[in-house]
Amino acid sequence: MATTGLAAETRACIRILGVPIDCVTMDQTLAKLETFLAADQPRLVVTADATAIVIAHEDAGFRQLIESADLVTPDGIGVLWAAKRRGCMLTERVSGVDIVDRVCQLSADRGFRIYLLGAGQGVAELAAEKLRLKYPGCNIVGTRNGYFPSESDEVVAREIAVFRPDVLFVAMGMPRQEQFIRSTEHLIGAKVAIGVGGSFDVYSGKTKRAPQTFQKLRLEWLWRLMLNPSKISKVKMLPKFVMLVLREKH
Ligand code: UDP
Repeated sequence: MATTGLAAETRACIRILGVPIDCVTMDQTLAKLETFLAADQPRLVVTADATAIVIAHEDAGFRQLIESADLVTPDGIGVLWAAKRRGCMLTERVSGVDIVDRVCQLSADRGFRIYLLGAGQGVAELAAEKLRLKYPGCNIVGTRNGYFPSESDEVVAREIAVFRPDVLFVAMGMPRQEQFIRSTEHLIGAKVAIGVGGSFDVYSGKTKRAPQTFQKLRLEWLWRLMLNPSKISKVKMLPKFVMLVLREKH
């Protein structure tokens, strides 16, 4: 395990298939986010699951983007397994869905401003309604769907900037969401931007979260596959991930 970064922001990182992953729990992630919120520069947080790591392993551009992130959380049982092989013992995954939940809870106490960008028409708004009900006082200041061409990124960024968000959640799938964040952060001015994949679909109720039994058995991927067989191409990445990690030299 390597320790990198400035003294004020020491990071305990490992590399899986050449991709940096921070050895953090959910509580440590939230503590980091609070430091980011207290500072005045845009930060990118990536939630890296096995698929993201395989994509980054094969795509130098995406790997660079992750390399430049301020925090890369271990998302998924496959990543926890691979991290353990590198000496990083983690007991929990830090997923986009869970980060959205915890940050909204924090916002209800502290009042910082959250913007939800991504998913189909009306989904982010519905997710915002549900989150406001769950955490009264949670300060979601705006929402927008994630279906627009990348040529419109700057226009969309300027629309979002009007809402002066502190935290920007972007749910547009990888690597599109991270590319949007990095290329527009200077225009939006949020202190933290986090790519959160299919999270708004979950909070809006469009996608049902796996029942507790599946979560406990760490079989959420199987549940998602049962509900949406088109996810098979993503699930097929898992054996590839395992094979590449087993072949990787320590
Ligand atoms: N999405 C979007 N814009 C696009 C493509 C996808 O907003 O151009 C949304 C999509 O509706 C979904 C989310 O991005 O809500 C990504 O979902 P996916 O399940 O692919 O993400 P994962 O969590 O698997 O990375």
